[in-house]
Parts: sequence; structure tokens; C-alpha cells
Amino acid sequence: MDRLYLFLNPMRRLGMGKYSVFAPLLGNLSVLSFVELFLFLTDSQSTFGATLIITSSILLVVYFAFRDGIRGGIISVGLILFYYLYIIFSRQELSQRQASIQTTFFLTGVYISLSAIIGWLKQYVDRLIIKEKKATIFMEEEKIRLNRILEHLPIAIRIANLRDNRIEGNKKLEELLRRKVNGNLESEIAYLTDHEYKNGKKMSSEDLTLVKALKEKKKSISEEIEYIRDDKKKLKLKINSAPIFNKKRKLISVVSVLSDVTVDRLMEERKNNFINMASHELKTPITSMKLLLNLLLKRSKEQNNTAIFELVSNLILQTERLQQLASDLLDVSRIQTGKLFFMKQEFLLNELIAEVCDLFRETRQDKRIVVKDTNTLVVSADRFRIYQVLTNLMTNAIKYSDKDGEIIIQAKKAEGFAHVSVKDFGIGIDNSQQKKIFGLLYQVKDGRDKTFPGLGMGLFISKEIVKRHKGKIWVESEKGRGSTFHFTIPLDN
Ligand code: ADP
Repeated sequence: MDRLYLFLNPMRRLGMGKYSVFAPLLGNLSVLSFVELFLFLTDSQSTFGATLIITSSILLVVYFAFRDGIRGGIISVGLILFYYLYIIFSRQELSQRQASIQTTFFLTGVYISLSAIIGWLKQYVDRLIIKEKKATIFMEEEKIRLNRILEHLPIAIRIANLRDNRIEGNKKLEELLRRKVNGNLESEIAYLTDHEYKNGKKMSSEDLTLVKALKEKKKSISEEIEYIRDDKKKLKLKINSAPIFNKKRKLISVVSVLSDVTVDRLMEERKNNFINMASHELKTPITSMKLLLNLLLKRSKEQNNTAIFELVSNLILQTERLQQLASDLLDVSRIQTGKLFFMKQEFLLNELIAEVCDLFRETRQDKRIVVKDTNTLVVSADRFRIYQVLTNLMTNAIKYSDKDGEIIIQAKKAEGFAHVSVKDFGIGIDNSQQKKIFGLLYQVKDGRDKTFPGLGMGLFISKEIVKRHKGKIWVESEKGRGSTFHFTIPLDN
């Protein structure tokens, strides 16, 4: 029954793209034969007969053009034309024939136009529907393909869809969290507020990376959180979320990649603990060693033993380097574990600069250390840590410049800050390296420069100290012409 309905109803055939030849042939022949039979049996008068023939012809043309396109309409017109000619030649007298043939040609013209317009419309609509169907199938296939890829990707992915307010995750995510993420967005957010922690504290829904990504609509958000699984295992997760917008720039979903960094963080913690412990353990023997060496130095001087004196002086120098290395290592580990604390106090920066310069003048008589028109500046900072920054910049200025080179220190007032600069006329730093030197363990590498001792920790530590004082540190330098290191720290108001 349904098949018959599909066969007869042209509306149901829209978008099928099937145009039959037999249906219009058989359909027209049977309807026209039925009309002919009816007229024969009822012996209808000519006006009723003509009306019946024309009405059925129009209906046939419209129906078959709609059912089978231009082809269906034209077949109908052809058969109707034959039928009209048959009537004219079999039933009319010679005198009437010419007028009837003219009417027939006029009607044929009308039928052809009708079938062409309706047939073309039908075929056009069919094409549109087929295109739409193909696009839908393509989209569905793409969706399946994408889902398969996501499902089998070796990284945990979570997708929040705003269109249907749902959230889903792939297999890897299920393995990582030991639960299926597939459901309503709001319930997932409620679940996460019970299971996500940051710095040991429970997170409110606004703090969740997912909610932030949904609300802030930023390019991407990267965060590390602690997640407590249902089996009570604690995970450290790194979540990278990126928003997805439609063509009208409306947010439609947020994709997050979750990585398990529990082991990495544990190893880092162990490493930091080790460095911390090792540098602490090193500190005491090095200090005792230095004390003993100084004693030995004094004795050798008293005994006028120049050979021993020089040997011990050298040993003291090496011990000091070792001491500096241990203390730098400790500071780096403190920075990385967030345990570098400051004790702020008011002090005269000029006094500190003078102190540092005197120290260097004592040990490095070969250098000309010049303090240039310095303003009187009272700052509020950690005196010891600023001393550390200054000595580090001075050490570098000495290390990376010629033996008898000049070093100029200047300190001025600059918009609520003290601005200190340390200038040398040494090897300089290439433009491309100037930002990188403040990174951890970074050392400029090119032939000659490689021979300088060091590990690349000093500027990293200095940067952190200045940054934590809400100041800035930067360098101006030209290769071969020397460098000026600048830093700022807030003045005491
Ligand atoms: P270190 O001096 O122990 O290698 P730093 O962190 O103090 O480590 O410095 C990092 C790098 O920056 C140095 O290795 C050096 O290449 C470059 N650098 C620092 N200060 C200067 C300077 N005054 N002149 C030229 N290069 C410098």
C-alpha cells in the first residue's frame, strides 16, 4: 500500500531524482483511453466532451511534469497531441479541421510551456533536496569519523557543547578519570566542584577551568589542578581549554585536553627536595672550609710563605665560587617551589650600592668601578636580596668585560621607582639573546663566550627577585660594545 502511495503521490517522490518513462506513457494512455471510452458510451455533446478532454489533458501534463520532470510533461504533451489529431481526423469534417488544428497547436504550445516550467521546477527542487541530503550524509559521516578519531586518540579530551548543553569525553578521559563523562553540562560542573582542587582548596564553580573557558571566551586557558577520583586517588591534571566559535563568532563549544602530570610533578618535587637538601648540606662544610682556609692564609702571610699564600688564596677563590653555586642552587629550588620569601625594610639604596662597590674594589683592583651622580633613594625592599641582584650584575659586568675595563653604576628616581643601572664596556650581547639570558640555565653560546665559567642561574634569580618586588629588569646591549643592565624597585613612600 505504502509502495503504491509512493508510486502515485508526486509529493512523496520529491528529492528521489527518479524520472520514469513508462509511468507517463502508461498513465496518459490509460486516462486518454478512459476519456475516449467515456465519450463513446455517453455520446457526450461536443462542449462537454471538449471540456473533459482539455481538463484531463491539463491535469495529465501537470501531474506527470510534477511526477517525472520535463520528460514526463513532454511525453504527456506528445500523447495528448496524437489523441487530438486522432479526434480531428476521425470525427471532424474537412471544413472544421483547419480551425481545430490551429487550436490544437495553440493548446500544445500552452501544454509544452506548462510542462517545461513545472518539470524544471520539479527537477530543480529535486536537485536541491538531493544536495541537502548529500550534505547531511557527509556531515554525519564526518561526525562519525571525528568521533572515532577522538575516541581513539591517545590523549584525554573533553568537549562541552553549548548548543545542547552536553559534555562528553573520549575513552582516554574515561581511563584517566575512571568514569564516563557523558551527560548534562550543569551536572558535570556540579560534580567537578566536588572533585577539583587548587593549591589544596576546593574550587568554586567559577574557578573551574571549564567554566572560565565558557565565560571568558579567551583564546585558550591552561591550568593545573588537583583532581580526586571516585576511587580517592589524587591526580595532578594539566587542563588546556580552547573555545570554538561558529561563523558568527558565537561560542558553540569548549574543547579541553587533560594531561596527567602527577608523576612529573612528583619527580620535580623530589628533584627540588634533593637540590634543596644537597645545597643545605653543602653550605655548612663549605663555610667551615672557608674559615679554615682564611686561617691558613693568615698563617702563611705571617710566616712569609708566598707559595702557600698563593695556593690558599686560589683555594679560597674556588671555595667562594662553590659557595655561590650552592647558594644559587638553593635559591633556584626556592623559586621553583614558591619558597623564596622576602623581608622588606626601608633602607638607603645609595649605602647599599657603596657597600657593594667597596667590596668589589677590594677584590678587583684591576677594574675601575665608578658610581655616577646617584640621587638619594630610600627604598622598601629586602636588603639582602637587592644586594644579591647588585652583586650578580657587578660580577657579570666584571666577568664579561676586559681586564682593565670600567664599570659605571648609577641610581636615579623614576616615577615612584628607584632605577639602577650597571654599565660595562665588555663583550656585549646579541639582540636575539637579550631576552633569553634571563631564563634558567641560559648562557650565550658562541665560540669565545663559551669559555666563561657559570651556570646561567644569576640573572634568573635576579629577575625573580626584582619581579617579586614589583620592579622590572632588562638589558641594553650591543655585541662587542658592552652592556647596561637596568632594574627598578619601588621607592619608599
Ligand atoms: P652566568 O653568568 O653564571 O652564566 P647569568 O644568569 O648571570 O649566568 O648570565 C646568563 C648569561 O648572560 C651569561 O652566560 C652571559 O652569556 C650573559 N651575560 C650576563 N651578563 C652579561 C654581561 N654583562 N655582558 C655580556 N653577557 C652577559
